[in-house]
Formats: sequence, structure tokens, C-alpha cells
Amino acid sequence: MNAEIIAVGSELLLGQINNTNARFLSRQLADIGINVFYHTVVGDNPSRLKAAIGIAEERSDLVIFTGGLGPTKDDLTKEAIAEHLGAELVHNEEALRQIELYFERTGRMMTENNRKQAIVLKGSEVLPNDHGMAPGMVYAKGAKTYMLLPGPPKEMEPMFLAYGHPALLARMDSQDKILSRVLRFFGIGEAMLETEIEDLIDSQSNPTIAPLAADGEVTLRLTAKHQSLDAALRLIEEAEEKILSRTGEFFYGYDETSLMNELTKRLKEKGLTIGCAESLTGGMFQQEFTSIPGAGSLLKGGVVCYTNEVKEKVLKVKKETIEKDGVVSKACAAELAENAASLTGADIGISFTGVAGPDELEGKPVGTVYIGIAIKGRPVHVEKLNLGGSRAANRSRSVKYGCHFLMKELEEI
Ligand code: ATP
Ligand code: MG
Repeated sequence: MNAEIIAVGSELLLGQINNTNARFLSRQLADIGINVFYHTVVGDNPSRLKAAIGIAEERSDLVIFTGGLGPTKDDLTKEAIAEHLGAELVHNEEALRQIELYFERTGRMMTENNRKQAIVLKGSEVLPNDHGMAPGMVYAKGAKTYMLLPGPPKEMEPMFLAYGHPALLARMDSQDKILSRVLRFFGIGEAMLETEIEDLIDSQSNPTIAPLAADGEVTLRLTAKHQSLDAALRLIEEAEEKILSRTGEFFYGYDETSLMNELTKRLKEKGLTIGCAESLTGGMFQQEFTSIPGAGSLLKGGVVCYTNEVKEKVLKVKKETIEKDGVVSKACAAELAENAASLTGADIGISFTGVAGPDELEGKPVGTVYIGIAIKGRPVHVEKLNLGGSRAANRSRSVKYGCHFLMKELEEI
């Protein structure tokens, strides 16, 4: 089955909002083995929408629409589809009851045009809206399937997950169950990772192995199909074992996790606390750290030591170090990390000092970063990076590398 997503809404064409619905649906469809070949965006205009449907049904088995199911005049997705397909629009009692209930629950006044939302394509499977009013629909004509979903993501996403997804599975020919797992890597580029496992990617069709790179990280999505879920899981585990036997040193976690999330988990397991000295990252490491629920108690505290004065006076970096090596140096990073630990009374000190850009500093090029890690009872360890990206990328990449290096150190204790 291959699919096309048609997002309806002039605000998308005007650049006022991002088409996150298409992104969400594409990811969901990939998980169940439906290929998405086209994304279309069309404004709130019936004739252009009908033209887009005509094109989509020529080339796709499944057409999913989002948006334009609301009560206002510019919401015309249903009407345009009905006209194009020669389908009838009928009142749906259940949908009307849901809408009335919604108004009761929220204590708002129902207006006449809200009834319009209870109108559905005759013969469609109605998808309840648990977070709003307009119901969704699945409609079949010939070999083609049409799915209509509301525009607001907070309505569309739960509706798709609870009702749209099962409706599609029920309509797919195969009895296969689909299982997927994401492996997350850091510290290796996409090209390098692909090269390492190229033969596996080329030769494997079950599971499929799909690489994706974003924000300095690489993920591999393994998707297996089998009539038995257990067997699908075994297929994934076998492929994973082969992949990790070659690239395991860069692997850090599964599915929707993050480097910081994994780091805080590991600190918690080992019962270790951390203190920070942040120069170029300006507090970003601690900001991310404290955004992880339950991680706060592992962070003793830290200093944003942006100026040399604060590095020297608060974090006690030696004057000679600053004069001789500069603040963007291995020696400075080491002292910052050690003193961050002692100053905060933490088991671990981590420091970030470097040149975020756009201007160079101390004659060192943009993207030169030193990350110091001082763990109680171990010699202080400093890593040097040459990032050379934009200011924003250098800062956020530094935080990720900090997590990565610290996790590596923790593996050894
Ligand atoms: P409503 O009942 O709220 O009018 P609707 O189904 O008619 O819902 P639209 O009117 O097309 O949907 O869009 C409502 C809002 O939903 C938009 O203003 C926008 O915030 C969000 N939205 C619509 N389409 C998308 C999309 N493709 N991606 C992300 N958000 C979207
Ligand atoms: Mg609307």
C-alpha cells in the first residue's frame, strides 16, 4: 500500500505554520510498512483541493487528508471530497451526540454551524474525536482508501493513534504484524555509520534498516514484519546484534530517548552527583539536565563562568593557566572540572570551555571546544573537539558531546 498525505490549509501555504501533521503521519505510516510517496499542501479552496485529490488518487492507494473539518466557512474538505467522489453527506447521530457532550463538558455555547461537524460521508467508518468535535472518517471507493482527519495536531494525533492506525491495519491485505525499533548513535557521522553496515542495509529486507541523521545524531530504524510478534522481535534482535557488533561503541539508546536522558539514568544507577562549570554553553547543559524529570537531585549546581574573571575568582582557575594556556585550553578545562566538583561538593565535575563563534578567540578557531570531566578518585580527563559549525550548533553539540564523553567514562567505573 502506498500513501499520499494532503494537508489542507491556507495558513500552511502562507508559511504561518509548519506541516507537522504530514511529518507525524509519515512516521506512523512508515512504522506499519505503508510507503508515503507524496506530501501535498493545498489551500482552503475547493477547486484546487479537488484537483489535488484527482492527482493523488491516480498515484496512491491511500490518501490521508488533514484539516478543514471544522465548523467555519473555510472548512470545506468534506464537501470537496464528497463532490469529487460523488458521495453523499449525511448527519451522523453519534458524532452529533459527541459534539453536544463536548459542549456540555467544556461549558461552552453550541452554535448552529457546529452541527455541520456531525456531517459525514455516507458509508464511511467514523473515527471519534476524543479531544475536539469534528470526527474523522475512513472512506473506501474502488481500490482506494481515503482518510479524513482534523487539522489541530492535538486532535489529529490521538485520533490517528486510537482509531486511524487500527483502521488501516484492518484494511491492509497482509496478516503480518509490524514491529519497529530505533537505535540511536552519537559520535559517528551518518556516512560513516552507513559505510560500516552498508552490506547489512543492502541485503536485509526483513527487518528493513533505515538510517536518519539529525542534530548531530544518527538513528537506525529497524522494521520487521511477521505473523507472530515474537518472531518479528527475534528478527529485530538478530539484526541489532549484527549492527552493534560493528558500531556498538557509538550506540547509546533505544527509541524516544536522548543523550541527556541516558546520562541521567546512568548517574542515578551509580548514585553519583554532578557539578558544572559552563563557559561557552552558558548553562545549556544544566538547563537540559534539569528538564529531565527526576534528574534535578543529581545536579548539585554549577557556575556559568563566561568571563575570565569568574573563571579565576569563582572557579579558582590559576592566573598562570589563563596567562600561559588561555581559557580555551586543556589545562583550563581540567581545572574548571575539578573545581566545579569541589565547589559544589559533587562526585563529578564537568566543564565546557571553547570558541562558540562567530569570532575566534585567543587565536583559536571557531568550534574549538574542551570538555573536562573530573570523577572523584580518577585522574581528570579532557577531550578536545573541533566542531567548526554555527554558534548555535557549536553550543548544542558541545552539550551532547559532554553527555557522550561522561557516559563513556562512567562505563569504566
Ligand atoms: P478546526 O475545527 O480547529 O477548524 P479543522 O479540522 O478545520 O479544525 P483547520 O481549520 O484546517 O482544521 O486547522 C486548524 C488548526 O490546526 C490550524 O490553525 C493549525 O494550527 C492546525 N493545523 C492544521 N493543519 C496542520 C498541519 N498540516 N500541521 C500542523 N498543524 C496544522
Ligand atoms: Mg478549521
